[in-house]
Amino acid sequence: MAKNSSRTVGRHALHIPGPTPLPDRVLRAMDTPIIDHRGPEFSKLAKRCLDGIKTIFKTSNPVIIYTATGTGAWEGALVNTLSPGDRVLMVETGQFAALWKKMAEKLGLKPEFIATDWRTGVDAAAVEAKLREDKKHEIKAVCFLHNETSTGCLSPVPEVRKAIDAAGHPALLLVDTISSLASTDYRHDEWGVDVTVGGAQKGLMLPPGMSFNAVSDKALAANKNSKLPKSFWAWDEMIAMNKIGFFPYTPATQMLHGLAASIEMLHEEGLDNVFARHDRLAEATRRAVKHWGLEIICRDAKYYSPTLTAVLLPDGHDADAFRALALDHFNISYGASFGRFQGKMFRIGHLGDTNDTMLMGALAATEMALTLAGVPIKKGGAQAAMDYVASQLGSSTRKAAE
Ligand SMILES: *Cc1c(COP(=O)(O)O)cnc(C)c1O
Repeated sequence: MAKNSSRTVGRHALHIPGPTPLPDRVLRAMDTPIIDHRGPEFSKLAKRCLDGIKTIFKTSNPVIIYTATGTGAWEGALVNTLSPGDRVLMVETGQFAALWKKMAEKLGLKPEFIATDWRTGVDAAAVEAKLREDKKHEIKAVCFLHNETSTGCLSPVPEVRKAIDAAGHPALLLVDTISSLASTDYRHDEWGVDVTVGGAQKGLMLPPGMSFNAVSDKALAANKNSKLPKSFWAWDEMIAMNKIGFFPYTPATQMLHGLAASIEMLHEEGLDNVFARHDRLAEATRRAVKHWGLEIICRDAKYYSPTLTAVLLPDGHDADAFRALALDHFNISYGASFGRFQGKMFRIGHLGDTNDTMLMGALAATEMALTLAGVPIKKGGAQAAMDYVASQLGSSTRKAAE
């Protein structure tokens, strides 16, 4: 903090939208001796994780656990279900959608985008219209992001499912839930998703390096006919080995210890309470931003993200310089700007093991940093957030007392 000091006081305020702060309990769960990954102790750990993760995706089918970041699970979802030259319908919600599309191209698929201005989520009607045009059913999959982390827009999965069904189209539904899983409601089975892609380092409060594919029966059937080359990502061997509590190769044992702890913690808090906390933190953040008089990238309240808020700075103010100043003075980091908002926005992450007090610290630091950076704001945004949180917690305290 102080420029003439080599010591940083206190904890870093990690407000990027993932990786998220690691709970001490997860860290401690990982701080254990390595065990034999072919031994009985391991199979107990594996079972806890493989059974437990199903309760997070809300599925009764197998969930594949990869030793890879989310990008690996993107690849897993595509190569296990599709064949070279398959048409894939994607929605250009932002930078992460663009990266997934680029991957699909590299893998020999033919992805096409429904364009957006990067300030909104998926429009189910647009998906339905595209599918209705595809009379020959050449589109084999619809792929989109539940939460677009580069812009802070959340898309309505059940609406898209309904749109696919209304068009009478057989395409698979592949959903990236990397920055929304375990932070907001998600129901793999009930919502009729064929492959859900998840990651460890966001809502699951783990270090980066683990990711997931939840699958449907339809996805498992598609897997049998899929012709894209796959080896490391192949589901079949993984599912067969997982059935007996093991992995086809050395698993990330310490990550599994962490995962078992994080699943336990999510259920102790209660998933619905986890979701309500994220909603509260997100609304508090938006109230602060609106009070400051700054613009939220997501322009339609229907699509507001519960896990991050992307904030546009007024013309002439460099968002990257602002982030550097905030880091320097207040030891806080925000998500960087991307693509068409390069240098124009910063993203406040409010997901994972983050509580009201941490968020208020972050919003107060942000207000101070905006002032120091000379960004014209109306002061009192942090107060507006505090008032909101107090009103929410006040009403639940009153309810509990009744
Ligand atoms: C973080 C993220 C990714 C990329 O995951 P990596 O772990 O960086 O490979 C993909 N999609 C979304 C929505 C994300 O938030």
